[in-house]
Amino acid sequence: MKKDENFYKESLFSFQNPSCVCLVDTINESPTDVKRIFKVIKDDSKLIQFAFQPNKGVVRINPKTGSVEEDNVLSKLISIDSSSINNFTKFFEKNGFLFPLNDAMNQIDDETLLKIISNLQTTVNLMSQISELTRKDYKRMLASSIYLLFASPIEISIGKNTYKISDNKRLKEILKKGREHSVNPATKQYNKDWEFEVQDSIYGTHKVHIDTYRHEVDDPESDEFWKSVYYSYVNYIDAPKNERLLIEVLFHLYENYGSFYEASATEISFLNKWKVDWKLLEDYRFKQAILEMSKFAVSEEINGNLHGIYPEYDMNLMEPRWRVDGLLSALYFSLFYMKPNVELMRLCANPKCGKYFIISRTSSKKKYCCPECANRANQNRYRARIKGLD
Ligand SMILES: [Zn+2]
Repeated sequence: MKKDENFYKESLFSFQNPSCVCLVDTINESPTDVKRIFKVIKDDSKLIQFAFQPNKGVVRINPKTGSVEEDNVLSKLISIDSSSINNFTKFFEKNGFLFPLNDAMNQIDDETLLKIISNLQTTVNLMSQISELTRKDYKRMLASSIYLLFASPIEISIGKNTYKISDNKRLKEILKKGREHSVNPATKQYNKDWEFEVQDSIYGTHKVHIDTYRHEVDDPESDEFWKSVYYSYVNYIDAPKNERLLIEVLFHLYENYGSFYEASATEISFLNKWKVDWKLLEDYRFKQAILEMSKFAVSEEINGNLHGIYPEYDMNLMEPRWRVDGLLSALYFSLFYMKPNVELMRLCANPKCGKYFIISRTSSKKKYCCPECANRANQNRYRARIKGLD
């Protein structure tokens, strides 16, 4: 690293990643179930240099010229077309692997890898939704934040080291704490209809009928997870603000639409309702709650992935600096530094493109990553219009 270059002075952090060779084994577990294993071997003889700059993201430096070879490496990773496994190997051969590798052959299966990338992608999308000034997609924000907060941590073993990714586990801990708060229902105050009031940070107060409560909490048939949500909602009133909000959002979803069996990054699938009216989203208070919950999910996800970053004092330069253990940590660190009120990363509006680009929030009208994509989209619209006229 050439320390006298201005470039590094402007960078908030820089790091080196060894190059690697990446091979893919295909295992046919059954005719319909194909598993792919990425086998990665590091090549210490070639070190790839990265730096982070605001508004450029994590950039890869050309070793010969010292100039930026590729900017916004994070967007390249989350834009990879996953239909071809070769696109991943190309990325790793260009940028090195996501984690620090040992001298042996390291491996990771495609499912784990896609999960890691999906978490990153969902975090970026959620951050971008939060900073959108107009047209927030609350339904998607709700799904994305639940998806992130629900996700179980991902573990990768490399030699003797185990890396835990997205290790927030918050939801389970929150509900476990909620279950420990026991309140005798007899001590509650009831109205003439046998309803009691629960303090609710979204709506102020909310009425629950004692029979419904008893049924939800005592029914041995009902799902343990939703039992915990119901119980926590009624009894864990003094939960920390963000945790309480999460319990409340889940409770209202359950009360209105029943239990859901899956939250993907883009939508929630309810068990007994295939079509949801989403009346909850007509209330600005619930939308505000989703916004707050989304911020919580983003911060949990970023905080849960910063353990590979250490502050270090450079004795030669007499300056503080950051040490970054691997590419994935660096990419999360770049999100850590991203200022949603200044800049945001947006998905290109050309459906065939799939690239993410960084824009300043003031130019938030920009929809396409490049003039080519804007042209193509315009042409398609034009063609569609002509077709429509026929
Ligand atoms: Zn594009």
